[in-house]
Amino acid sequence: MVAGTRTPRQITKEGSLRWAKLQSVSEEERKKVYPSLEELFPELYKELDEQQKKLELHYLDMQDLEFTIQEGKLWMLQTRNGKRTGPAMVKIAMDMLRDGLINEEETLMRMEAEKLNELLHPVFDTKELAKATLLAKGLAASPGASTGQIVFFADDAAEWTAKKKKVILVRVETSPEDLSGMDAAQGILTARGGMTSHAAVVARGMGKCCVSGAGALNINYKKRTMTIDGREFKEGDFISLNGTTGEVFEGKINTVDPEMSGDFADLMDLTEKYTRMYVRTNADTPKDAKIAREFGAKGIGLCRTEHMFFEGIRIKAMREMILAKDESGRRKALDKLLPMQREDFEGIFEAMHDLPVTVRLLDPPLHEFLPHEEANQKEMAKEMGITPEEVKATVDSLHEFNPMLGHRGCRLGNTYPEISEVQTRAIIEAALNLKKKGVRVIPEIMIPLTGTDPEYRLQEEIVRNTAEKVFEEHDDRIEYLVGTMIEIPRATLVADKIAEKAEFFSFGTNDLTQMTFGYSRDDSARFLPVYLEKGLLENDPFQILDQEGVGQLVELGIERGRKGRPDLKIGICGEHGGEPNSVEFCHKVGMDYVSCSPFRVPIARLASAQAVVRENLAKKGGSTYSTA
Ligand code: PEP
Ligand code: MG
Repeated sequence: MVAGTRTPRQITKEGSLRWAKLQSVSEEERKKVYPSLEELFPELYKELDEQQKKLELHYLDMQDLEFTIQEGKLWMLQTRNGKRTGPAMVKIAMDMLRDGLINEEETLMRMEAEKLNELLHPVFDTKELAKATLLAKGLAASPGASTGQIVFFADDAAEWTAKKKKVILVRVETSPEDLSGMDAAQGILTARGGMTSHAAVVARGMGKCCVSGAGALNINYKKRTMTIDGREFKEGDFISLNGTTGEVFEGKINTVDPEMSGDFADLMDLTEKYTRMYVRTNADTPKDAKIAREFGAKGIGLCRTEHMFFEGIRIKAMREMILAKDESGRRKALDKLLPMQREDFEGIFEAMHDLPVTVRLLDPPLHEFLPHEEANQKEMAKEMGITPEEVKATVDSLHEFNPMLGHRGCRLGNTYPEISEVQTRAIIEAALNLKKKGVRVIPEIMIPLTGTDPEYRLQEEIVRNTAEKVFEEHDDRIEYLVGTMIEIPRATLVADKIAEKAEFFSFGTNDLTQMTFGYSRDDSARFLPVYLEKGLLENDPFQILDQEGVGQLVELGIERGRKGRPDLKIGICGEHGGEPNSVEFCHKVGMDYVSCSPFRVPIARLASAQAVVRENLAKKGGSTYSTA
């Protein structure tokens, strides 16, 4: 049993029936071979049920019970609070809340924010699923839907994934040395192993889709093939797994994003009752904006605009701008980009109607828009009607030894004001166009990488002057804000001065961490794992905000910022905005909101509410929650 090579029988008849249906086992066979404890020993089942209820009421939590039945007598061996999956965590706590066993604060604190990830698994597109061919059935070992190419070895899973391929790791069974491959794969399929097998337990821990014990699989590692009912599948063939039902399908089945409903939605409503901070999202497309909104995001905290310069024909116009010899050349190229950006903003604003959208002006260094390899430079030269040498010369002239500290952020907008002008125009025109259609837009224009007060003021002036010009041209206006990223240590020190003009601050803790530690975001992977292993760092500071150091700067920036402008709106948009510990810190230092990627919105909402509950508890001097 403990080795997980056998799947335990069901305790309840209801569970047995459900299991038999999933496994396509006939009722006759089920009764004969897989009867439940309830059917086999009804009296003992009743006794076990009573013991379970008693223990759960005593501990006020779901119990993991060990028992044995010997010579017709039930012996209870051990009880402890049961481990649970994300969906079970939500269901158990919400059930207990409804039953009046625990109160709302306790319910919120029973949640492990990261585990909500498991409720955010994609599901198969139902139309595609209806047409899919079922190949085999195994155990529904870990929920979710995944689709990818078959690989039979963990190393291949990691390698193929590094090459941006999506893979399903198929093994007879898994063992600890397969861990990195399991982590890299979209899903895991095993031929052997029960619900407590290595694959099943590890996959559930990772929140990864897994079907285990699909006995119909015949795997040949040497040939890198598997056969199912005489049909052969090779490494690289596509299959799809449904870890919620244990089904294995042939080919690719597209997935769709999950919806928030039932207990999950009720839990999110509960967070609203307690939270002080609200949660926004980092989104650059209408699709992401919509997903985040469905998860309860109250606006966009960071819309990075760089992709608007990269896609399709835009890159050509962008390159024309970079190659231009003077301002008028740059303006000509930017004019081509204007309608495309305006359209992009219209899409995003419409998806986030009635809620604020913080749009950040161009941030990355210009060389990122140019090709660095000879073949690509030649291609660009041909397209632009210039010589490859000219392209190479431009690339060389833009070379920076340390681009992260180079010509980027507001330094771009201050050297080439026309870039900020055109972006502002695109934002304001998009908002005015939507206003005509009855859509309310609340744009917030954000200046990146501010380090000094004068550089912010110059950018702000450009933005405001442009906006006024557009208002005049359209004989109409809208409300908008201008503010800044706070991501350079110096900016936190002079935050009071910056806040005299800036209407909001958004802490860019990715860059702030980079510049405070002096660790390059791009190169720290060389030493960070060693530092973590040697205990020189407790956590990766790019994942969990370093409260001891970077946190001090954040606090200082908030304190000084509010000195300069008492009603300054303050948020965070670095990756830390979706990490529970960091979210609690943001609450403690008095931020108004956190902003994170769409799928982390529910996690941040929960973490934000938990921060309030924890704070209330500390005020009361208690360490436990009263029950309802
Ligand atoms: C940041 O620096 O924290 C940030 C959000 O900006 P980016 O990651 O785009 O540099
Ligand atoms: Mg940044």
